[in-house]
Amino acid sequence: MEETNEKAYAKLNISLDVLGKRPDGYHDMVMVMQSVSLHDELRIKLNDSGELSAMSDLHFIPNDERNLAVRAARQFLDAAGDEGRGVEISIKKRIPVGAGMAGGSADAAAVLRAMNRLYGGRFSTGELEEIAAGIGSDVAFCVAGGTALAQGRGELLSRLPDMPGCHFVICKPTFSISTPELFRSIDSTPLRHHPDTAGILESLDRGELEGICRRLYNVFEDISDRRIKTVGEIKSRLLDCGAAGAVMTGTGSAVFGIFTDETMAQKAQSALLREYRFCCTAKPIKPLV
Ligand code: ATP
Repeated sequence: MEETNEKAYAKLNISLDVLGKRPDGYHDMVMVMQSVSLHDELRIKLNDSGELSAMSDLHFIPNDERNLAVRAARQFLDAAGDEGRGVEISIKKRIPVGAGMAGGSADAAAVLRAMNRLYGGRFSTGELEEIAAGIGSDVAFCVAGGTALAQGRGELLSRLPDMPGCHFVICKPTFSISTPELFRSIDSTPLRHHPDTAGILESLDRGELEGICRRLYNVFEDISDRRIKTVGEIKSRLLDCGAAGAVMTGTGSAVFGIFTDETMAQKAQSALLREYRFCCTAKPIKPLV
């Protein structure tokens, strides 16, 4: 087998906490992460050209080594000691770009899973996660996905009980938020609140969705900014439509609400689509490996 298809699932942050800046310039984070059914579709073909490329249906996404999917292919080949191989990747983007939903990281992780399959399961999940951590902070989580606690830069993962059944409504305003800019702002802003991560973990243990929804929190929402105001407006709309909780994911700008009722979630999606270009529903995904 020289080619295969793979889905790359988006992630949402149930919580996001920043503990501080480290001497290496990265930030120490504590995040409860969840993968969701919204996904990109990838086709991965091996050849003998020695060249790596990733084509996508979005013209502004790079198709060379700046694309995380290409970086993943390179890292995989290096780890497998098969540097002479070529890899052709095509990506149908469904995950909005610059949304805080780990679109690029999910694509990279999908390439690692797919290539591992093409190489007959050469690496264990742990080994794939190690390769992933060298590509980007969220890539390790995206290898298995599901529900997990991510610490450090995001690469120290502990698997958590599956998220109770629910419906996500995810909405992204037209603007994106620059991740480096947001981290710079957080370094100069004293944080007033932190998420109750322990409370979320207890609620997950008990399978209590209500306890999770009540505790959704992202410290980046604390940074006052004109754009964060729009985030607040989307959250209010989701709550007015019956969400049990709503929060911004990652560094934004996407915001999601959690609904217990599918019809209410669909109605919320229709209502928000009248004002915002991107709004979809999605379900939680269990770990893939
Ligand atoms: P995160 O949640 O990890 O912060 P994000 O959702 O905010 O990520 P992405 O959509 O992953 O951001 O991508 C942001 C940038 O990464 C874009 O500028 C894009 O050009 C670049 N990029 C590289 N590879 C990809 C890819 N495969 N898909 C999307 N963007 C990519």
